Amino acid sequence: MNDIVLENIGKYTNPESAAEYEHYGGYEALRKVVTLKPQEVVEEVKKSGLRGRGGAGFPTGVKWSFTTSLPGEKYIICNADEGEPGTFKDRIIMEGDPHKLIEGIIIAGYAVGAQKAYIYVRGEYYTSAEMLKNALHDAGRRGYLGENILGTDFTFKIDVKTGAGSYICGEETALIESLEGKRGNPRVRPPYPGTVGLWKKPSVVNNVETLANVPSIMVKGADWYKSFGTEKSTGTKIFTVSGQVEKPGYYELPMTVTLRELIFEYCGGIKGGKKFKAALIGGAAAGAFLGEDKIDVHLNFEDLAEHGGCLGSGAVLVLDEDTRILEVLKNIMEFFKHESCGLCLPCRVGNVRILDIIGDLLEGKGDDKDCERMLKIAQVMKKTCFCPLGQSPLVPIETALNLGVD
Ligand code: SF4
Repeated sequence: MNDIVLENIGKYTNPESAAEYEHYGGYEALRKVVTLKPQEVVEEVKKSGLRGRGGAGFPTGVKWSFTTSLPGEKYIICNADEGEPGTFKDRIIMEGDPHKLIEGIIIAGYAVGAQKAYIYVRGEYYTSAEMLKNALHDAGRRGYLGENILGTDFTFKIDVKTGAGSYICGEETALIESLEGKRGNPRVRPPYPGTVGLWKKPSVVNNVETLANVPSIMVKGADWYKSFGTEKSTGTKIFTVSGQVEKPGYYELPMTVTLRELIFEYCGGIKGGKKFKAALIGGAAAGAFLGEDKIDVHLNFEDLAEHGGCLGSGAVLVLDEDTRILEVLKNIMEFFKHESCGLCLPCRVGNVRILDIIGDLLEGKGDDKDCERMLKIAQVMKKTCFCPLGQSPLVPIETALNLGVD
C-alpha cells in the first residue's frame, strides 16, 4: 500500500494533539507554504494533477485558481457530509488524523486568499465533529490558526458545522444553503460557488480526502505525487470495500490498481470461496455495476468512465454469485426515494415508480417491458432532474440491466 493520506493512521496516542502530528512531520507543509506566494501554491497543486475525491474528480488546483484571482471576502468549505452508502473514508481521516485535514484546509485558505473556513460534518458523525473541534482548538493554541499565523500577516479561522442527516446536503450548493441556515435545497448552477458561494461570496468547496492530500504535495512536491497513479488520475485513492469479501475495510492504493487486485490481493477474495458476480463501484447509490468481464478494469477516473462506470467516492460493494442484483437495486432506490428533497417532480415521482417496478420484478410479476419502462423513467430523470440525486439512478439501473435482471 502507498499511504499518503493515511500514512499516520494508527500511530498516534491522541490524534487530536497537534504536538503528536508535528512529531510525524505535521505542519511542515504549512511552514513552507507561508514562505511562498499564494499563486505558487495554486500552481504546485495544479501541477500535481490532484482531482477532487468527493465524486466529480474536478482538478483541485484549477478550482482554486478561479477563486484566487477574485477580490474580497472568500471562504473555504470542507465537504465532510459523507452520506454515500458504503463510503466511510472521510470519517477515517477526521478521526484518525484530523490535523492532516486541518493543515490542508489552512493551506487552501492561504492559496485562495480566504480568512475563514467551515467543515460541514455529516450530522451522524458525532465523534468526528468532536475530535475536529478539539484538534482545531489545539492547532490554534500552537499558532496554526487565528491571527498572524506563524508570524506572518495571514489570518485564518475554521469552524465545524454539523448537518441534520440529509444526503442531498453533500451536494455543494445544498450544503451552502444549509450552512446559511436554510433548507438544504440545491441551487441553480451557474453561478458556481467558486464565484458566488457562501453568503454570495466566492467559496471553494473541497472534499475531506482531497484536502488531506495537500500537505504531502506541498512537502514532497508535485512530481513526487505524480509518480503514483496514472497521467490523468495522479496519487492514491482510498477505497472503502464492503459486501461479500473476506476482508472488508479501507485501502489506500495508487489508481493503477485493478478491481481484481483489490478484491483478491487486498480483500482476501470472495467470502467462503464463492464466485464473483459483480461489484457496485463509485458509491452504493450513484455507482455502476461491473461484472466479471470488467474485473480487470483499473480503478481510476478515465478507465472506469471508459467502461461505463465512475470512480465516485471510491466505495466498492462486492456481490457474490448468490446475491440478487435486483435486491441491491431495490435498496438503492429505497435510499433515493427516502433522500429525495421533493423539490422537483421527476425525482419525487420517478424514484417511487421505479421502486414499484422493481417490487413487481422481484415478485416475478414483471417482464422485459417493465425493465424498459424503468430505464425510460431513469433516462427522463437524468435529463430533467434538478440536481445529481435525481440524475443518479440511471447509471446503476442501466448497468444492472446490462448484467441481466435476476
Ligand atoms: Fe431534490 Fe431530487 Fe430535485 Fe435533487 S433531483 S432537487 S433531490 S427533488
